[in-house]
Amino acid sequence: MGQFLGFSCGRASEPGPCRLRRISVAGSPSEFDDHIVRVLRHRVGKDERAAKHHDWYNAAIYALRDHIIDDWIDSTRRTYETGGKRVYYLSMEFLIGRLLRDALSNMGMTREMEKALAAHGLDLAEIEEFEPDAALGNGGLGRLAACFMESLATLDIPAYGYGIRYVNGMFRQRIDDGWQVELPETWLEHGNPWEFERLESSYRIGFGGEVTVDGDIASWHPAEQVEATAVDTPVVGYKAKRVNTLRLWSATALDPIKLDAFNAGDHFGALSEQVRADSLVRVLYPADSSPAGQELRLRQEYFFTAASVQDIVRRHMQYEGDIRTLPEKASIQLNDTHPSVAVAELMRLMVDVHQLEFNEAWEVCRKTISYTNHTLLPEALETWPLPLFERLLPRHMQIIYAINSRILREARKAGCDDGQIAAISLIDESGERRVRMANLAFVGAHSVNGVAALHTELMKETVFADLHTLYPTRINNKTNGVTPRRWLQQCNPGLTRVIREAIGDGFIQDAEKLSALNDLATDTQLGERVAEVKRANKVALAEHLKATMGIRLNPDALFDVQIKRIHEYKRQLLNLIETVALYDQIRSHPERDWVPRVKIFGGKAASSYHNAKLVIKLANDIARRVNSDPSVGGLLKVVFVPNYNVSLAEKIIPAADLSEQISTAGMEASGTGNMKFALNGALTIGTLDGANVEIKDKVGDENIVIFGLTAEEVAERRANGYDPRAIIEGSRELGQALSMIASGVFSPDDRDRYAGLIGGLYEHDWFMCAADFESYAEAQRAVDARWRDPAAWRTCAIRNIANVGWFSSDRTIGEYAKDIWKVT
Ligand SMILES: *Cc1c(COP(=O)(O)O)cnc(C)c1O
Repeated sequence: MGQFLGFSCGRASEPGPCRLRRISVAGSPSEFDDHIVRVLRHRVGKDERAAKHHDWYNAAIYALRDHIIDDWIDSTRRTYETGGKRVYYLSMEFLIGRLLRDALSNMGMTREMEKALAAHGLDLAEIEEFEPDAALGNGGLGRLAACFMESLATLDIPAYGYGIRYVNGMFRQRIDDGWQVELPETWLEHGNPWEFERLESSYRIGFGGEVTVDGDIASWHPAEQVEATAVDTPVVGYKAKRVNTLRLWSATALDPIKLDAFNAGDHFGALSEQVRADSLVRVLYPADSSPAGQELRLRQEYFFTAASVQDIVRRHMQYEGDIRTLPEKASIQLNDTHPSVAVAELMRLMVDVHQLEFNEAWEVCRKTISYTNHTLLPEALETWPLPLFERLLPRHMQIIYAINSRILREARKAGCDDGQIAAISLIDESGERRVRMANLAFVGAHSVNGVAALHTELMKETVFADLHTLYPTRINNKTNGVTPRRWLQQCNPGLTRVIREAIGDGFIQDAEKLSALNDLATDTQLGERVAEVKRANKVALAEHLKATMGIRLNPDALFDVQIKRIHEYKRQLLNLIETVALYDQIRSHPERDWVPRVKIFGGKAASSYHNAKLVIKLANDIARRVNSDPSVGGLLKVVFVPNYNVSLAEKIIPAADLSEQISTAGMEASGTGNMKFALNGALTIGTLDGANVEIKDKVGDENIVIFGLTAEEVAERRANGYDPRAIIEGSRELGQALSMIASGVFSPDDRDRYAGLIGGLYEHDWFMCAADFESYAEAQRAVDARWRDPAAWRTCAIRNIANVGWFSSDRTIGEYAKDIWKVT
């Protein structure tokens, strides 16, 4: 096969169609290289001399895929032969990002691929950039689902992820003149080499119509039907222990074109069914923590949930032949309420199709299903107008009424009063009648888990207080985690190498082994090596931002990062106000010894969320002013990085010194960004919210910077009349920063742009920016003081890395497996 080397496209003298940095390679081309070239010819259909980067990218993935498929088939066969229980993870979102590096790394083939590509003058890092970022999620909830899929495979648990194959997914964010502009993400534009369409796994999904009853048997006759077809992507666990399936549904019309209508000239009408089907899988609603009330959203939820439940039941019947044994062979986990109609769909299949008696079906349903709650924000708890629900899903509505009467009878028997009954009911009767999806999931599941310890306690005290009284053992906690493969090994190879040389590589599959670093926390040599890696990562990020945004950053400045969805409760505004206060201070006291800082922001705002979009504009306005003001010199820079996604997170997090986790206490369910940063040696500045509380417990008070009101104090202030105006008037620094923003210092082109945003802080300040400002500013100056002692900072960074291994999604999945799913 040596002949191919001679034709390699990267030859400097050859003005070929593809030119990449030439890499010298020792030794002869490997078997894997032959494989890639064969694939390039026979599957991509290109001569290696004419192949473009994108052809090589496809060939690389196809060749790798061939290896993965063997393990995939083995895994599936093994599950079948051992008759093991399968876990089904239903999620509206999977924020998977790129797969090439993850799959290569978990297959243990990274070096082989590098060598094979180098033989053709190609650099793996460059080829990787051709992979689109699969953004089938909004943020944390979707990324959690992706981390869980990887951990399930790593822990050798047979599992399927079920979701929607969105054609456009989450929008791509562009920043035009400082404003967010939403563009469709065309991630499937050049095809998707990872996926396999399974035409044999198709289901008809109905909507509307009516229900008829014949004796005891009800039947639903939908008015419309679409076909859901499975599209599978392999998910490789660490060391390829197991390859599981991510099964995403696509939609087609049963009758894609009505030829008679088409021939009669009604071209649009002839295609309308296909357009309707297509709309089900077109976009992900860009709403995080607030329900999109559109009918289409409910249709999407039912579409993917019904297809998934039907697939699960079909598989079970095929292998076991008796629906009553379902809980022994299947565990269905609902990732938030989006798939909670699964409760009614499973009941419908059991009662109407498999003709189980209602009570027996209810037992089977509850034993099979479990539910994860992700939010306490009342506005984010999904409910649907009853008339809409009834019109779209008439049979499910009947089933929900039947479940409700059963539950409310239980509640009466247990002595609940009218207030409690009203809170427990699946139907909200307080205004326009609505179906409560969280209550449906709660009663239909045997386990309801929160995602961090604090969040779980708050669930019991607030949204689910009455349900918790009725079912006191159902709520439990499973603190979230992140996969250390993607969020340490792959995104930060430099740090991984340093850790491996210090303590061995056991931490990659058992992250709690990182604790061995505690003994070396004050070791100067290790401290210096960790600092060198951090600096190299900062240089790499600075180069990336120079190339993509044209901004110049000082890699020796403190990189202070807040990247996450833009939401008022996450308080990017608090950070921006403090940035303005700092800017003001630096200009007023240039003689002081300021720590140079780079403030990095990134995140998308839901398209209908006015204030969140205004916060993006404010960040950009502040950046423009501060970055061009010579009086702050290099001491302060502000950057808003467009289109935050998984791939960007993988570049930014390893380069962060400081992680901003500053939500109003009581409002962030867990957070997982906080875990990724700490794992990569950043210090956290944060409130006692979500998993920050547990991070503090693990790393110790002296290795985290905590500020602000506690959840209890926030609730108390709200209850007892909070007066932000008095606080603002009592704080010179805060008052000044706010008046600079409100008066148009950063928006000379539109002086009133922020008058309303800042006015809201004086009026109500629901998220308590004013209350926490002083404490936050003080904490920031404490961070500066620490930064001035590099040795102490390094020790602190190492202690963070050493003590957050517990936040591995392997640990989380291990707990789900043992306590909820009962799989070993
Ligand atoms: C981890 C992650 C999130 C979640 O971040 P939080 O800070 O926990 O809100 C969101 N988006 C992406 C791309 C992520 O990787």
